[in-house]
Amino acid sequence: MRTTAQWQAADASHFLHPFTDFGALARKGSRIITKAENIYLTDSEGQRILDAMSGLWCVNVGYGQQALIDAATRQLKELPFYNAFFQTATPPAIELAELLAEVTPPQFQHVFFAGSGSEGNDTIVRMVRRYWDILGQPERQVIISRKNGYHGSTMAGASLGGMSYMHAQGGLPIPNITHIDQPYWYENGRPQGLSREDFGKVAAGWLEQKILEVGPEKVAAFIGEPIQGAGGVIVPPETYWPEIQRICDKYGILLVSDEVICGFGRTGNWWGCETMGFRPDLMTFAKGVTSGYIPLGGVMVGDRVAKVLIEQGGDFNHGYTYSGHPVACAVALANIKLIRELKLVEQVRENTGPYLAAQFKALEDHPLVGEQQTKGLMGALLLVKDKAQGTPFASELEVGMVCRGHCFGNGLIMRAVGDRMIIAPPLVITRAQVDEMMALIRRALDLTLTDVRAKGWL
Ligand code: PMP
Repeated sequence: MRTTAQWQAADASHFLHPFTDFGALARKGSRIITKAENIYLTDSEGQRILDAMSGLWCVNVGYGQQALIDAATRQLKELPFYNAFFQTATPPAIELAELLAEVTPPQFQHVFFAGSGSEGNDTIVRMVRRYWDILGQPERQVIISRKNGYHGSTMAGASLGGMSYMHAQGGLPIPNITHIDQPYWYENGRPQGLSREDFGKVAAGWLEQKILEVGPEKVAAFIGEPIQGAGGVIVPPETYWPEIQRICDKYGILLVSDEVICGFGRTGNWWGCETMGFRPDLMTFAKGVTSGYIPLGGVMVGDRVAKVLIEQGGDFNHGYTYSGHPVACAVALANIKLIRELKLVEQVRENTGPYLAAQFKALEDHPLVGEQQTKGLMGALLLVKDKAQGTPFASELEVGMVCRGHCFGNGLIMRAVGDRMIIAPPLVITRAQVDEMMALIRRALDLTLTDVRAKGWL
């Protein structure tokens, strides 16, 4: 086994990491993760780290599940690859399609497989435009999404996403994608003196304004994450999604739920749209479908769209080499069966989700915490300068990064999105492990407070 320094040197010489300042990382050196079990990682220094982010929001069943390992091994021996082009299919892909139809809301009977969430969303863009073409309304091209939403890093995925720092690189967004403001009450509603409920309706109203501005006859679809993940775990007011649904229905616009993070139990139901109360026509999934053990993504296609594509569509000129990869599908089958067997969705809804919510609520008394939110097993703590006024820290102070540093230093992976500290632990986490995680979070907050006071930032 190489030493940490040797790994870091080789990494710096050859490996360009995603969303990274290559030069800065090469100078600093990566943290090398060598193995994992349950909810704990081990790094090349032998330090044990509680992974409160499930890798990248994906390891829902936790690390080291033998059923998934066995499923992959079996399938690799039986048939490691065959495609779904040219009128062929493999048993795992067919069985997974069948099982997905079972665990998704009733309007979903069909799936289109991809290799990732980004590819899923690229599929969405092409599919919704194709749908309107077939219906003789080719002018319906525009897809509306939200600022600070995240839908992936391909050209279409990054265009749908509302991350301005991503748009700034590579000439994005691509044409006919437009954005409305996000339903972030603390930042956009609270200062106006709006209740959460009233703000939810106001924020949904921005969709109607945009539809009227673009022209309803030109709008193809609206896409959003039930709860914004990468944007900072922003849980919208309960009034938001039902109102979005009403507006989409009013103008006949397709409603797309990006379930890449919220799907497969994260919010305490199988799907985030169930938790937030809406009925999408299409859903993107990835991550939790295989608990990240192997790449897989796709699109659940609701009856409204499937009927048109199947009965009147002719060829749909789209697909990937790995659409329906048999090994990925075999792992997904084992993963979904395990989620059912362990009753993880129920556990999150009835047990660990409410328990986490109570623990986060208790953090409201911390001098740094301006707002806390959880839904199921995702949560956010907003660090602020002045709790009473809700005054943020200056962004260049990067207080979130200070806190993240203390998490890392003490054996906890927690992510910072600006000054929102976010978690999404594996769904197998126990109450005792939630306690352990909370103790680490409190410690990181206290150390951050000490730093912030010492620097005179408070
Ligand atoms: N949609 C959402 C909501 C996501 O959070 C992500 C990834 N974080 C994606 C799409 C893109 O998925 P991938 O990275 O697998 O392409």
